[in-house]
Amino acid sequence: MSLYECSLERMTDKIKTFSKYGDAGHGGITRYTLSPEDVLAREEFTKRMEAIGAVIEIDDLANMYATLPGSDPDAKRIVMASHTDSVKNGGNYDGILGVMSAMEVLETVAEHKIPHKHPLTAMIWTNEEGSLYPPAMMVSGIVCWDYLPEDIKGKFKYDDMMASKSVLDGEDTFGEALDRSGYKGDKKNRLSRDNYKNMFELHIEQGPILEDAGLDVGVVDCVLGMFNYRFRFYGQTVHAGTFPMNKRQDALWAASQVINYLHEEIDKLGHPELVYTTGEIVCHPNVHTCVPDYVDFSLDCRHESADLRDKVLEIVKSCADKEWAGCKCEVEKMWNRDTVYWDKKLFGFVKEAAEETGVSHQVLHSGAGHDAQFASYVLPTTMIFVQSKDGLSHCEPEYSTPEHCTSGATVLLNAVLKADAE
Ligand SMILES: [Zn+2]
Repeated sequence: MSLYECSLERMTDKIKTFSKYGDAGHGGITRYTLSPEDVLAREEFTKRMEAIGAVIEIDDLANMYATLPGSDPDAKRIVMASHTDSVKNGGNYDGILGVMSAMEVLETVAEHKIPHKHPLTAMIWTNEEGSLYPPAMMVSGIVCWDYLPEDIKGKFKYDDMMASKSVLDGEDTFGEALDRSGYKGDKKNRLSRDNYKNMFELHIEQGPILEDAGLDVGVVDCVLGMFNYRFRFYGQTVHAGTFPMNKRQDALWAASQVINYLHEEIDKLGHPELVYTTGEIVCHPNVHTCVPDYVDFSLDCRHESADLRDKVLEIVKSCADKEWAGCKCEVEKMWNRDTVYWDKKLFGFVKEAAEETGVSHQVLHSGAGHDAQFASYVLPTTMIFVQSKDGLSHCEPEYSTPEHCTSGATVLLNAVLKADAE
């Protein structure tokens, strides 16, 4: 099979151009889904894809599909997809690099008239970040809904999603944003098993592993399984100046003891790949003259192995059986998900494509969720990661070199051609 290379010059131009749409003035972007900035990015996508003869379709959730026909009019499409929306003060690569790479693949195919049997589609998923209208991965959750596990389905009901309120004004809904965006198309255009064969998503790594190893690209094998728990502590509010220390029930002191305990006990399991985070904490009444009577914190834990996650769970649950600093502790499961493995054959195509094109690479897990995760319940799916500078993401200094981005697109192109020839 012939090998093909994507264009560094064209990729660099796309990165520069898309970085203008939502430019926040200090190196990064704020580009909420369906905002005027997102519409500019979508117009750029349309302009460039129509210039190479791709046909644009839009579904009822504003997902966009640009398709180059293949030699077999009856063949199912191969789709490369990611998102154009960002978090507040995010970077120029998360999501949009997957869209630019998909565009770059189609542009390279068109430029070199690369023969292919299946139609090839570059796709934009709407509202992956959920940063204005939560939750994250909202629209892939709706599109893939019929195939999702039961406990995930409940979080992505169509009517609930349309009613999701803007985090900025608490009034405007996702459904209203969709109606006024001008991008509400036809439901029959949605990605489905009937029309699509495979999905690929290229994304920045969002971690430091590739850079530390001096490698360009990650061949991703799975999205890590994870769980999310809440810990709640109940004490008694008293005056900070008048009440003796030995009689207090300080819920924050109790919570801090448990956070320490969790770190000590989980670290004893001795697995450097295991990650766990307390990222959210609520303290009541949160007044400097009051001893807190209520504290609530989150614990997010991720690892490939279900056995190891179970061991962490034992530690988590053991916290509920005792009093901490005189306070009652409740532990509640919010949600969990198993490790989702990518399609083995597509994973193999990506690995071969990296080997044959001489792009340095290693196998990686994904610690973050992506639209590809939900798509994998519908279609054979896989992912490719591109090196992130300093592992930074969801922030303005987020950066991948144009060379790394182009190498990633080259691997994507050749992996797609293998899937096409299969
Ligand atoms: Zn993303």
